[in-house]
Amino acid sequence: MVNAIATGTGSLLVNLKCPGCGAEYDASLVNTFCANDDCKSTLFAQYDLSQPLDKAILKNRPASMWRYRELLPVIDTENIVTMGEGFTPIVPIQNLKQFTEGNEVFWKNEAGNPTGSFKARGIGMAVSKAKELGIQTIATPTAGNAGGALAAYAARAG
Ligand SMILES: [Zn+2]
Repeated sequence: MVNAIATGTGSLLVNLKCPGCGAEYDASLVNTFCANDDCKSTLFAQYDLSQPLDKAILKNRPASMWRYRELLPVIDTENIVTMGEGFTPIVPIQNLKQFTEGNEVFWKNEAGNPTGSFKARGIGMAVSKAKELGIQTIATPTAGNAGGALAAYAARAG
């Protein structure tokens, strides 16, 4: 495995890898999918997970998804576009026990995210990485939540 890129965020991002054919790509360049004509798979970010993260350090950081910035692809903290996404509550659903042999069921209330849906997490990350890569225009297919989140985060990015 290639050494992690030295970063302002401490990101342990190493590269992008194709799960289809195994091709690896430079994560500091714009890549959308595998360039092999017979493959065209979505690329996955690869991280150097050889060292454990210090739980005490993580616990003392602000309560947002950026608490775990080592495991996110943004390299420079200046490129983080955030509105406090993440750390939404996990809520017990009391009246489902009758259907689960007494086991508790919980749901994660993602409506607590800045744009009212879980889309804030992925879109916040996408806009941050796009900013880092110098991308000026972003489009997405959407039925509503993703488009709302993209508009909000793109506006925040400036
Ligand atoms: Zn491939």
